[in-house]
Amino acid sequence: MSRYWSDVVNTLTPYVPGEQPQFEKLVKLNTNESPYPPSPAVLQAIHSVSADALRRYPDPESVALRQGIAARNRIHLDQVFVGNGSDEVIALVFLALLKHKLPIFFPDVSYSFYPVWSQMFGVEYTTVAVADDFSIDPDSYPAENGGIIVPNPNAPTGMLMDLRAVRALVQKSAGSVVVIDEAYIDFGGESAVSMIDEFDNLLVVQTLSKARALAGLRVGYAMGNAKLIEALGRVKNSFNSYPLDAIAQCAAVAALEDEDYFRSMCQRVIRSREALCEALSVMGFDVLPSAANFILTTHKRYIARDLFAQLRERGIVVRYFNKPRIDGYLRISIGTEEANAALLGALSELLSQEG
Ligand code: PMP
Repeated sequence: MSRYWSDVVNTLTPYVPGEQPQFEKLVKLNTNESPYPPSPAVLQAIHSVSADALRRYPDPESVALRQGIAARNRIHLDQVFVGNGSDEVIALVFLALLKHKLPIFFPDVSYSFYPVWSQMFGVEYTTVAVADDFSIDPDSYPAENGGIIVPNPNAPTGMLMDLRAVRALVQKSAGSVVVIDEAYIDFGGESAVSMIDEFDNLLVVQTLSKARALAGLRVGYAMGNAKLIEALGRVKNSFNSYPLDAIAQCAAVAALEDEDYFRSMCQRVIRSREALCEALSVMGFDVLPSAANFILTTHKRYIARDLFAQLRERGIVVRYFNKPRIDGYLRISIGTEEANAALLGALSELLSQEG
């Protein structure tokens, strides 16, 4: 607290991202980054950025990048909005499309940034309990609402809602915007972008941070009806006209063009995930079915918080959420084969010590 702070600062409870420890030789499985580098074409594109492109302001409308996103998703330029990571895009969505008289709804086990944005923008919210098996039932959401936001696959469970369920949610909530946060969709899900021409209240948000291995570049985007996109542009242009720098715009275009590399990296992560799930279940862990680049897992005989601390002592960092319903679980990002082997080795040591 300081007397210089505005009232709103005093009310904030900021989101706490997973740590980015600086020590070397760390097995880092805590923030769902890609274990593999981005496409070589991305680094080439970054090297090709000219001094002039840096001297000038970047394209405020990121047209080339939005065209790339539109082409890949077979939609129009005016159906695409880009921002500095999907976190920024979603923040603007809260202000532009989710702030109404009625509360918005999102799952009780979900991305923990949603309550933070709600608070910051004065958006009232109600959480909807996921089922005992952590699945999301569209019927548990009310038809009358100020908006709905759901990650698909959900985070931190990794569980996927099929497109039929997404459609039911969007159809039911015809009077308000339904945001599907698809940060992890490339690891086994099917995007709801195919339905944006059919539903003018559907907004799909994606990112280059996960499957495209560009968390450090900060590029995210939303796809939906042109009127929804216009609302986001109005808020963006009242806040920061140039959210994406010239390097990010150019590198993101290159990333989107290298479809073969993208697909093969996704396949690699999926294969590693299946192998990791199998090995963990042999060790007695229960693993929720994941369509993401991470898993949520629990062990009947071992305390998640202790395992988290013991792994950390061994230089292996995973994520532990001290929150209702998931405080008995660890969230583990899928790493390289070597990183996953190191994790399994450490876990088998810990389990045999204490068993
Ligand atoms: N949505 C979900 C569900 C996430 O887990 C994340 C990553 N923390 C994001 C959005 C934001 O990702 P980024 O800002 O890197 O695009």
